[in-house]
Amino acid sequence: MALSGLDIYKLLPKTNCRECGFVTCLAFAMQLAKKAVSIDKCPYLSPDAKKTLETSGQPPIKLVTIGSGEEKLAVGNETVLFRHEEKFHNPCGIGSILNDNLSENEIKKQLDIINKLKFERIGQALEVNLVAIKQNSTAENFLKAVACVMNNTRLGLVLMTAEPKALKEALKITKDRRPLIYSLSGDYTEVAQLAKEFNAPLVAIAQNLEALSSLTQDLNKQGVSEIVLDTGIKPIKDKIWDLTQIRRLALKKSNRSLGYPMLVVVDKNDPVEEAMEAASYVAKYAGIILLKNVNTAEALSLLTLRQNIYTDPQKPLQIEPKLYPIGNADKNSPLLVTTNFSLTYYTVLGEVEASKIPSYILSVDTEGMSVLTAWAAEKFTPEKINDSINKSGAKEAVAHKKIIIPGYVAVMSGDLEEASGLQVIVGPKEAAGLPAFLKNL
Ligand code: SF4
Repeated sequence: MALSGLDIYKLLPKTNCRECGFVTCLAFAMQLAKKAVSIDKCPYLSPDAKKTLETSGQPPIKLVTIGSGEEKLAVGNETVLFRHEEKFHNPCGIGSILNDNLSENEIKKQLDIINKLKFERIGQALEVNLVAIKQNSTAENFLKAVACVMNNTRLGLVLMTAEPKALKEALKITKDRRPLIYSLSGDYTEVAQLAKEFNAPLVAIAQNLEALSSLTQDLNKQGVSEIVLDTGIKPIKDKIWDLTQIRRLALKKSNRSLGYPMLVVVDKNDPVEEAMEAASYVAKYAGIILLKNVNTAEALSLLTLRQNIYTDPQKPLQIEPKLYPIGNADKNSPLLVTTNFSLTYYTVLGEVEASKIPSYILSVDTEGMSVLTAWAAEKFTPEKINDSINKSGAKEAVAHKKIIIPGYVAVMSGDLEEASGLQVIVGPKEAAGLPAFLKNL
């Protein structure tokens, strides 16, 4: 937990010797709290004070990375229990488990489905992140499956095996991809050494929090620092309890031994039940979720939820405010106006595209607010819209002198006509009404 300037001052020698370059110890403490200076500037810190200050500067939940290059997945580094307190920082990784007893063709078929689980929603690319290869048969089959997965997907890898020898061989094959090690044996003696040797993150698994805490401390002593926590397969209410307690202990009690991202394996055969359970873990507080069946519907629902949960609540997703030509828009195309809130813009865009009528959409800078909210907050006023019309070149883009406004702000028609000199046409209240409206225009 970050210390205040006064907390730091209590740990300093309080001699005001000025060797740090500050007139008083208090002035030095205030700069330390702002992370504007290094603790090394004071040569008189006691070893205990130094350790406390060093520890307080670390994030309460460690950042763990899996994979490499563009496909790198970073989880952890979370700072709050509740999203509205700040924001959730690193979206949880979602992955699919493939068993090694599938034939090579079946694995390739599955990977083909997984690799296509990519969507675009309100201007952002959404996709699953991981493929876990689980050993269910021989070491030979496991290694064949690992090689096949590695060659047929660029997603991050999770190696699930109980055999340290098979794990070592799999790590040799995949070392450049920095896979996550998930040992099924419960014995970490050799596995910890392999994690260290291959610089790979490791899942620590224990059924209760005390055992998990002691396991991570052991792993730390063995030189493993990138750890992901798992409390095993449990009923959903017990799992949510574990996830919440771990997050709370890490953030509120500064429990370093539980300050790691958490992994959940969802063990359900029915895809709908699986998606519903996984959705709970997206909200609270999984860093990685591994599923048995990832299909298009399930992936899209979970990725949409993840996108919403990990959006900064203080900064709605916004698009650049400007004039967007849709289709082969020309001088005779309708000109519609809306706000720059991503969800609003992309909803309007979807309906305009569905109408197949080339149009212009003028997106006004409302600081990411939707139509009615922006209107109520005086961010979507006739003056602001007129300003956007002039700056965007909308008047020059069309030969007619007409603009379509959302039905919910029909009340501004007169004032906008006066400000812009354009004829204002009141559009439908809901974007869903746009295709019919545009066709009848
Ligand atoms: Fe205080 Fe240390 Fe700075 Fe001296 S060097 S003024 S003891 S903080």
